[in-house]
Amino acid sequence: MSLKLTILGCHSATPRTFAHPSSQLLDINNQFVLIDCGEGTQTQLRKYKIKFSKIKHIFISHLHGDHYYGLIGLLSTFGLLNRKTELHIFAPAGLKEIINLQLKLSKSWLNYPLYFHELTSKKSELIYEDEKIEVHSIPLRHRIYTNGFLFQEKTRERKLNIQAIANYKEIEICDYQNLKNGKDFVLKNGNILTNKELTLKPPNPLKYAYCSDTAYTEEILPIIAKADILYHESTFLEQHTELAEKTKHSTAGQAATIAQMAGVNKLLLGHYSSRYKDENLFLEEAKPIFDHTELSFEGKEIEIFSKT
Ligand SMILES: [Zn+2]
Ligand SMILES: [Zn+2]
Repeated sequence: MSLKLTILGCHSATPRTFAHPSSQLLDINNQFVLIDCGEGTQTQLRKYKIKFSKIKHIFISHLHGDHYYGLIGLLSTFGLLNRKTELHIFAPAGLKEIINLQLKLSKSWLNYPLYFHELTSKKSELIYEDEKIEVHSIPLRHRIYTNGFLFQEKTRERKLNIQAIANYKEIEICDYQNLKNGKDFVLKNGNILTNKELTLKPPNPLKYAYCSDTAYTEEILPIIAKADILYHESTFLEQHTELAEKTKHSTAGQAATIAQMAGVNKLLLGHYSSRYKDENLFLEEAKPIFDHTELSFEGKEIEIFSKT
């Protein structure tokens, strides 16, 4: 299994010629998930040659315009393209009302099934799962109700410890699945071999954590711990720490501190304020705190693969 992330937009507030508001495409084994949908997302999807019809799920973090103003346009385009497949949108309560009002007043309708899954919980919860992945909400600290999202490969079954199993002739191939499922093995003499003796821990599941927009909060640490990639907003630099706290955003240094404390593999910075002309300043601030930091930029692609 692999997760491939494409950054479509990673700037805050208004769209500009070379700066697009938040949106990302996550390709999970050729199933496309759209994360946030700032204005112009559909033209970014075109630019990076992403097939619209493969998008089945959209996750919206919050109802500030730079995270969803592109949605009604994209939904309408899906309709014009004669989409028939279901679309599921996970978003804070209220988005359904907004979209339905836009459709109603323009006397428009969509010819494909559209399902809203409205989020209201202030605690992390499992909001989606299928046979391959699960998605958990990450409650964030922002001016309005906001969630990040943790996309996680399902925990795989335990691996057989063939060397240990070879010591017991009674264990046959037909017993292997029970062992992989975590069951102990009972010998004919009644003795029990614990599952731990006969199997090995499965590899850690792939994890991608998306956290935008948020003020510095350590409450997210248990949820994002050990993620392969963490996207954490860094709207400001340290010189504007007070402004970051006032507007409930983070600095690059704060994002790096969170990455370091959570023990993630890689940090992606983004949601940059337009007040800074040189985005390398974000990197310079973050790297001394957390070395495995990279800047997001529009068109950037990152792919991670299941561990074996
Ligand atoms: Zn924003
Ligand atoms: Zn916001």
